[in-house]
Amino acid sequence: MSNSIVADDMVVSFNYTLRRASDNEVLDASEDEPMFYLHGASNIVPGLERQLTGRAVGDKLTANVPAAEAYGEKEPGDPQRVPMDAFPEDMPLVEGMPLIAEGPDGEHHHFFIVGVDEEDEVVLIDSNHPLAGVDLAFEVEIVALRAATAEELEHGHPHGPDGHSHHH
Ligand code: ZN
Repeated sequence: MSNSIVADDMVVSFNYTLRRASDNEVLDASEDEPMFYLHGASNIVPGLERQLTGRAVGDKLTANVPAAEAYGEKEPGDPQRVPMDAFPEDMPLVEGMPLIAEGPDGEHHHFFIVGVDEEDEVVLIDSNHPLAGVDLAFEVEIVALRAATAEELEHGHPHGPDGHSHHH
C-alpha cells in the first residue's frame, strides 16, 4: 500500500469550504486547523469520501455531492415538539445539535434540534439532518496523509492529526 495516496485505513487531513450547490452560499469551512478523518470508516459523507479516494497530498478539487450521497433526502413529516423538561437539566439545547434516543426495541434513533421555543418551553426535534435534501459542493485541498494506527482502526476514527492525542 502506498502512503501517498488516499485509500482505506489512511488518516487524511484536508482544508475545505462547504457550499450549498444551488446558490454557492458558504455553509461551513475548516478554519485554523484542517479537518481529519479515517478513510473507509464512514467518518465523512459517502459522496465526499468516494471522491477523495486515490487523491494525493496537495491535490485541490471541487467535489459535487448530491444530497442522496451527503446527508440524505429530506423525509416528510413535521418536527416533533418535546417539552424542555424531558431533557436532562444540564443539557444545552442548541439548534442544530444531534440527539440519539433509544427506542423500546433498543434501536438508536437520530434526531436534530431544529428549534427552541423558550416561551412555550418546547424543543422542536426532527429526524432530518439540517442539511438533508441539500446538494453540496466541497472545495478541498488535501494537506496530509498517514497510515492509521492499530488503535485508530479498532475505534474507527482518528485520534488527532498526528495519531497521539486521544480525547475519550
Ligand atoms: Zn478512539
